[in-house]
Amino acid sequence: MDDSRETKPVVGVRRLKEAMDKPSALRIITVANQKGGVGKTTTTVNLAAALSMGGLRVLVIDLDPQGNASTALGVEHLDNTGIYEVLMGEATMQTCAQKVRAFPSLECISSNTSLAQAEIELVPMVARETRLKEAIEDLIAVRAAQGTALDYIFIDCPPSLGLLTINALTAAKELLIPIQCEYYALEGLSQLLKTFELVKKRLNADLKLSTFVLTMFDGRTRLANDVADEIRKHYPAELIDIPIPRAVRVSEAPGFRQTVMTYDASSPGAIAYMAVARELASRAKAFDSNVVSIHYKREGEIA
Ligand code: ADP
Ligand code: MG
Repeated sequence: MDDSRETKPVVGVRRLKEAMDKPSALRIITVANQKGGVGKTTTTVNLAAALSMGGLRVLVIDLDPQGNASTALGVEHLDNTGIYEVLMGEATMQTCAQKVRAFPSLECISSNTSLAQAEIELVPMVARETRLKEAIEDLIAVRAAQGTALDYIFIDCPPSLGLLTINALTAAKELLIPIQCEYYALEGLSQLLKTFELVKKRLNADLKLSTFVLTMFDGRTRLANDVADEIRKHYPAELIDIPIPRAVRVSEAPGFRQTVMTYDASSPGAIAYMAVARELASRAKAFDSNVVSIHYKREGEIA
């Protein structure tokens, strides 16, 4: 890879010539996997950026105290107006949403280090699992009144299955699981699926496991292909079969407070994320019409 290219500052707004399919209703997608470093944040910010370039209105909620999504999107980690304050009922999402530079309609609600306390502070609270859901419902009402309804909300989860992730699963309509095509990729997946089923049963009957994305894929290794085969076998409909390659530009971009979409749009990682975003968007229609059947299939499996 040519690393000698200079990094230019982002100028203007990035927009694709060919718009992406608009979903008939807001899609709320939680990106979760309790393993750290599997590509949750990278997938969240780059898919969100790509969909925004495709003309869609997108919000990213950074639900990880580490705040990596906020950093990658170049927004500030504000002390009093972040997702922690929203969860505590001290601020609304509308006041906390920050515009992301260089994209037509991309916003982010940042996290700050206080969020680490939320996991504990939420425990004794009333309706502790539904606080994020309620805040999102308020935002949806505000945006509807403004005539600026969102098309996508992505929720970037911390690497745990604690109350923050439970809140994210309760608030979402879809679960997207990034799978790192490396050793132990599938270890822990059953625990995540168990949590998913539990939330679906107790807190959010509408939740669907809609999408798998293969991250940091190295097609030269047997292992990466074995992991991909395994997911393909068990989740043929849910897998977006466009692996994201392990690519140096993807890992460099956050250091410049950018997504790879602006950092190096012609690099292999950016091209792959763009293709996955387009596929995700094009599945919205099929998803809308298949909601009932997918629902029953899953119910049957649980029983
Ligand atoms: P998570 O949010 O699951 O903890 P991240 O998205 O932060 O994972 O990714 C973990 C690390 O791997 C980060 O340093 C990130 O830059 C890097 N990374 C993610 N995807 C790729 C990729 N396709 N190629 C190279 N590095 C990647
Ligand atoms: Mg992360």
